[in-house]
Amino acid sequence: MIIKGKPVADEITAQVKAQVMKNKTGQTRPGLGLIRAGSHPSDLAYEKGALSRMEKCGISTKVVALPQETTQKQLIDQLKKLNDDPTISGILIFRPLPEHLDEEAIQKEINPDKDVDCFSPINLAKVMADDATGFPPATPAAVMAILEHYKVALSGKRCVVLGRSLVVGKPLSMMLLRKNATVTICHSRTENIEAICQEGDIVIAAIGQSKMIKKSWLKPGAVVIDVGINVDEQGQLSGDVDLEDCLDKVAMITPVPAGVGSVTSSILAKHVLKASIQ
Ligand code: NAP
Repeated sequence: MIIKGKPVADEITAQVKAQVMKNKTGQTRPGLGLIRAGSHPSDLAYEKGALSRMEKCGISTKVVALPQETTQKQLIDQLKKLNDDPTISGILIFRPLPEHLDEEAIQKEINPDKDVDCFSPINLAKVMADDATGFPPATPAAVMAILEHYKVALSGKRCVVLGRSLVVGKPLSMMLLRKNATVTICHSRTENIEAICQEGDIVIAAIGQSKMIKKSWLKPGAVVIDVGINVDEQGQLSGDVDLEDCLDKVAMITPVPAGVGSVTSSILAKHVLKASIQ
């Protein structure tokens, strides 16, 4: 069965909207501030999706669009303004930042209470420590929401996570562990990766390698979540999993596009709401 992201996103959006409406008369209105340096097409696409999702949820937005050649000081000054802005409860900074900027220094400037996409090392540490007051990154949180929505049992199950980045693979592995899954993390140096994948009841691919995972890599009845987004020369999107090859072997699989990517902005809205009330 192909499991799409839209029903998950719709459910989360409805919950957030209901809560925002309920709190409408309160002091703390949720608002999202976005900081973008440059105009990378993938940032612009994500920004468009995020703005429309916030509008659906009744969350206000403010976009700070800086030039690609922005200085460290300019960016930090804008970040500090959002940190101090009472109409902004959550802040998202598009990553990766232009190479001349010192990302590590900027991470330390964001108010961790407004850091709705886990940019600050404090929120990353909270993911590791199972501290629910923090904000995990939106993409692994979207994966967890999909697994929950489609009632995929995790406790005691073998999960194979492909990819170990700080934005997807590592935090996701911790979140799966918290649900009592047995987690194996694979990366570019992993030996016998295909054999390890075959042991997974749940396989989550986040490696950025178009259609690398084939049917022969999977155990019959596996649940497969494809986080990968790969764009070819013709502008066609594909995931890390060869969906057509794998479809008749798996119990569930997410498509690309219309899978994980369609859930992330609703997670962001949920985090902005949480930041406004906690
Ligand atoms: P990343 O920082 O480039 O990390 C990629 C990871 O995959 C690394 O850990 C790398 O291993 C591993 N890897 C690369 N090639 C491999 C191979 N041949 N075999 C095994 N492991 C391999 O990427 P990311 O930011 O985590 O993103 C991963 C994918 O998810 C990308 O396609 C990205 O576009 C997509 N993504 C999607 C969403 C969404 O909303 N759906 C959000 C974020 C990212 P090493 O550590 O050894 O280098």
